[in-house]
Amino acid sequence: MTDTREGKVSVGVLACNKCGAPMYPDMEKGGFHCAYCGEFFSFALTDADFTPGMTFRHQPLQEIDGYLKLGHVAIMDKKALQPPPSVEWHMRRTRLVDKIREYDEAALNAINDKTYIDMNCPHCGKKLTPRLTDNIFTCPHCGQKFGDFGHLSTGDFDEALIVGRKYNFDGKCLPFNIKPSEARQAISALGRQNRNDFLDDDIEARAETELIAAYVPVQLADFRWKYEVSSDRGTFWFYQECLNWAWVCTLMFDWYLLDELAPWDYGKISIMKPAYLEGNVRLFASQNIGEWQAAIPNYVLQSKIPYWLRSGLGIWQCKLLQASHDLRKHKFAFLLLPIYFLDCKREAGENDRQIRVMVNGQTGKAAALILSPRERDIIRTAEPIKPYVFTKGGERTILSPPMPVKYVKSPFLHEKIRL
Ligand SMILES: [Zn+2]
Ligand SMILES: [Zn+2]
Repeated sequence: MTDTREGKVSVGVLACNKCGAPMYPDMEKGGFHCAYCGEFFSFALTDADFTPGMTFRHQPLQEIDGYLKLGHVAIMDKKALQPPPSVEWHMRRTRLVDKIREYDEAALNAINDKTYIDMNCPHCGKKLTPRLTDNIFTCPHCGQKFGDFGHLSTGDFDEALIVGRKYNFDGKCLPFNIKPSEARQAISALGRQNRNDFLDDDIEARAETELIAAYVPVQLADFRWKYEVSSDRGTFWFYQECLNWAWVCTLMFDWYLLDELAPWDYGKISIMKPAYLEGNVRLFASQNIGEWQAAIPNYVLQSKIPYWLRSGLGIWQCKLLQASHDLRKHKFAFLLLPIYFLDCKREAGENDRQIRVMVNGQTGKAAALILSPRERDIIRTAEPIKPYVFTKGGERTILSPPMPVKYVKSPFLHEKIRL
């Protein structure tokens, strides 16, 4: 609500012009919907409407005479086995999201502006105190919804609230489907299921006051890899793939944790219109993160392969020997994913344990990352409280189990083997 900073308040009411009931913004349908009489009107047209739609470029795995053709993962990459640079890495992972201010201090200050506006509800007359940064807010007394009049009619919004460069802000998103109250329930379930891991950090209590909604920029790609590992069951190669993998385009969030929120339902992609977001949602633009961008897929694999080999093949000890991977980006593949998160409790010292929690804003899946200086990272996840129903026949994240393979003959033909 930009006008209010100059002392003017121009609030628009979101009421149905047919029956007068409160109307609800529906990102998926791209307009306001009246739950009482079924009336619908579209959001204003904005630049985002001209964002080209995503073109998925899947390449099916080729089978020739019963062999798998793995030419796309033929070139070995020594860099893929390098661990993240430890000092910078530790700093990135243990800093609070809001402390990464050198990136866009103005936006983070604007977002954290806790100023409330004193006004009386134009509908019922009772006292109403929306935050300056709220787009659309609800009167707690009568349930009527309001928003900045200018924003509602034009679809414009306060660009100062985007963290990063406005022109790198994506025009597509997956809409939020989970309410903050449901995200809190998911965190509480995660907390109950893993009491011992959270010890001194009461994530349920923190979720009541510290929960933040955000849109995180990613780029979708089909990610496929072949690794050689030595293990308690011998040395072998395996092949694995993740279709529609969300390759994160910012260093503001922990990508290991974000990766745990998959699968995502890409059958629900819609146009991003910040003017019509309810409450306070943080918006992050894609960031130019240089060498990190290319390295993130490797770091994710290094950390997750041991888990996949354990759950898929019953392997407990493994060492990665050789690696190759193939990232095939889809076309117009940038979009924003809806999440809720709890940041660390505070900036940590060298020896402090830290806990971060995220909830998938579409499905309700919750995940926590426990960082401790002397032990391995611990990741805990909790499935959605009410099962999410994926779009029938739609695009989604698909992860295959690891498949042991052996090279047979040219061209790149491999056979599946049993360990
Ligand atoms: Zn109506
Ligand atoms: Zn009211």
